[in-house]
Amino acid sequence: MSSDYDYDLIAVGGGSGGIATANRAGSYGARCLIIESDPVLGGTCVNRGCVPKKVMWYAGATAHALRDASGYGFDVTVNGFDWSALVEKRQQYISNINNAYANYLGKNNVTTLTGYATLVDKNTVEVDGKRYSAARIILAPGGYARVPDIPGKELGMTSDGFFEMTQQPKSVLVLGAGYIAVELAGMMQAMGSQVTLGIRNQSFLREFDDLLQEKLMEEMLAEGLHVEKGFTTASLEKKEGGITATGENGVSLDGFDAVIFAVGRSPATESLGLENAGVTKDARGYIPVDKYQETNVPGVFAIGDVTGQAELTPIAIAAGRRLADRIYDAQEGRHMDYSLIPTVVFSHPPMATVGVTETQAREQYGDDMKVYQSTFTAMYNSFTPHKSKTAMKLIVAGANEKVVGIHMIGLAADEMMQGFAVAMRMGATKKDLDDTVAIHPTSGEELVTMR
Ligand code: FAD
Ligand code: NDP
Repeated sequence: MSSDYDYDLIAVGGGSGGIATANRAGSYGARCLIIESDPVLGGTCVNRGCVPKKVMWYAGATAHALRDASGYGFDVTVNGFDWSALVEKRQQYISNINNAYANYLGKNNVTTLTGYATLVDKNTVEVDGKRYSAARIILAPGGYARVPDIPGKELGMTSDGFFEMTQQPKSVLVLGAGYIAVELAGMMQAMGSQVTLGIRNQSFLREFDDLLQEKLMEEMLAEGLHVEKGFTTASLEKKEGGITATGENGVSLDGFDAVIFAVGRSPATESLGLENAGVTKDARGYIPVDKYQETNVPGVFAIGDVTGQAELTPIAIAAGRRLADRIYDAQEGRHMDYSLIPTVVFSHPPMATVGVTETQAREQYGDDMKVYQSTFTAMYNSFTPHKSKTAMKLIVAGANEKVVGIHMIGLAADEMMQGFAVAMRMGATKKDLDDTVAIHPTSGEELVTMR
């Protein structure tokens, strides 16, 4: 390894991507430094994303299980729900993860530094006036939630604020139509808040297959959530009964004790000093990279949300590990393949997807494709007072009916998808699914018995 520099590798950002890259590189003997501006490691996913989100999602699922219990003969009285106690336990859980990173990274001799890093040149960063150099720099600063520039915007919060709430809001307005809006709205409704979801169009999660959009909308409405369609917020105002949001269409929604913006995220590249190293960013601030995650400047790489590719933790981790495998373990040509990314929206019920939607498949394959679809009541819901449907769609293409898309919504869809994603990556055909013995009685068996 090179000794002209303080380190072989510096990772700017101690989130999913920075940690994964430095840790894997460190395991091969590279001298690595991670610089993180937060006082703790872990980044968005651990501290204000996936992890606390999933804890709250489980709380919502538990509320539903309690509601369902009478269907299985239980006479349950729920005496309350202590949001603040849950938040305290959740934060302790996260703190344990933060601490675990120190051990984990220490084993591979990765050094960590707290502070905000700016690039000085392609091999040097500066933190609090001190300079650190490395043969290679990995930019993994992630992103932040956008807030629309409207009057009264300070009355709203983002998902970061949601995770800081120590009291349960009674009446909440969630603005946005992506993963975060749908997830937060669903879990708060499940936990007992009255939620209004304000969306600009007629549907949410519009990049997902129509089946999932439609079924999730039905399920959320059946849960008592109010969806205000065609609503683009023009202003927020504090009034006696709570916060009022007025739309560009003149519609007013009022009486909220919390308003959450979930209208997308932007890359954290404004103050990174990219210009000092000659690293280019696109019009939206993302850093373009080639298939090896390398920016326009040789030796400077970018990983994770800042590259604007699929903004998911496993993507940041996988891209970083592959980069380290290639550079520090001579695994020539190894790089991230951004196709066939399975993903789950932790809605209530959850939905999962991999591959193309039906609309995309029609554009891509014309008539040379076929759709298998099934909507049914899972056995669990046959007994519960609140009914919920499970829906699945299998899209196949070509003469051998290669599976090109799988979409599902319903109980356990989140856990079901991983194995099917492996099969798809291996090129599974409809016949392969048909030849796979079903596991009975499950919802998953539906996907191997579709006709
Ligand atoms: P981050 O994890 O954001 O890490 C970047 C780090 O860099 C941050 O800690 C930041 O403080 C630090 N930093 C920034 N600039 C500097 C600087 N100049 N110097 C030093 N440090 C700096 N993904 C999933 O796969 N599943 C989920 O269920 C999921 N749920 C989510 C829920 C929410 C509410 C949110 C917001 C995101 C969720 N995500 C989820 C997305 C996931 O969190 C991100 O894709 C992932 O964290 C990206 O990792 P990253 O390393 O690119 O950035
Ligand atoms: P997304 O990009 O997923 O969605 C934001 C949506 O909000 C847009 O698609 C748009 O939908 C709508 N929108 C945009 N601007 C406005 C506006 N001014 N007013 C109202 N609505 C607006 O962003 P998120 O913040 O939800 O999530 C960021 C990313 O984090 C996700 O894309 C995902 O990659 C990741 N994530 C993953 C999760 C998971 O894996 N389960 C969970 C949470 C986040 P439209 O055009 O329809 O109005």
